[in-house]
Amino acid sequence: MRLKVLGAYGASDAEHNLTGYLIDDWLAVDAGTLTSKLSFSQQARIQAVFITHSHADHIRDLPHLIHNRFSQQAGPLTVYAAREVLELLVGNVFNGIVWPDFSKLISSLTKAPAVIYRPMTPGKKITINDVGLTAVNVHHQIPAAGVIVEMNGQAIAFTGDTGPTSEIWKRTNKTPNVVAVVTEASFPNDQQSLADETAHLSPNTFGDELKKITVDAPVYASYRKIPFERDIESQIRNLRDRRARVLLEKNYTL
Ligand SMILES: [Zn+2]
Ligand SMILES: [Zn+2]
Repeated sequence: MRLKVLGAYGASDAEHNLTGYLIDDWLAVDAGTLTSKLSFSQQARIQAVFITHSHADHIRDLPHLIHNRFSQQAGPLTVYAAREVLELLVGNVFNGIVWPDFSKLISSLTKAPAVIYRPMTPGKKITINDVGLTAVNVHHQIPAAGVIVEMNGQAIAFTGDTGPTSEIWKRTNKTPNVVAVVTEASFPNDQQSLADETAHLSPNTFGDELKKITVDAPVYASYRKIPFERDIESQIRNLRDRRARVLLEKNYTL
């Protein structure tokens, strides 16, 4: 499968983008960066977006993706998330105050709403277009669930933001043919207490998580905070585990 990393950082400036991944051009995981890096027609090809949690760096472009969809000849965008995550997102963002609730507006072009919300039960696999999606709870400051995507006999596990966790690793270890794991290392090792307090990982705790992962596939650290990206990169290298990598903003073929 093709994984386009549109944003791999937990902060943004002219050269770094917020979290947004696109698989085979139609399935997105998180929406920090989607509209800001995709043409109008590329956006129209996105059929579904899985949201890990409602923090702004993971949803920034979602209101704009939905708004654009409203004026496109394309079917509705389906937003998937764990039930609790979706409730927070709709209640706090798509509440008619921060942004309209486009699930209740009918587009004159398609005679359908621009967006459909699909709550998921963590741990229970669903199938869309022959692709399996399993939301699995992770440990963050607010309700958050990563996702295991199974497509064409391959699988990728995305944790989204997380501190030390276990359930998603147990599930990943049981999933056949995992070709990549995308997790995080937001802060450098000398900010371990901040990482712990905010339920994120540092390269040290990323290393502890690696020991819980038994699959033989690259494990990527995403969401680096910009000022520390080089430190985090060298600390990941110093783990001396050949699976440990930092996630780059580029296209991966897996
Ligand atoms: Zn984040
Ligand atoms: Zn977060």
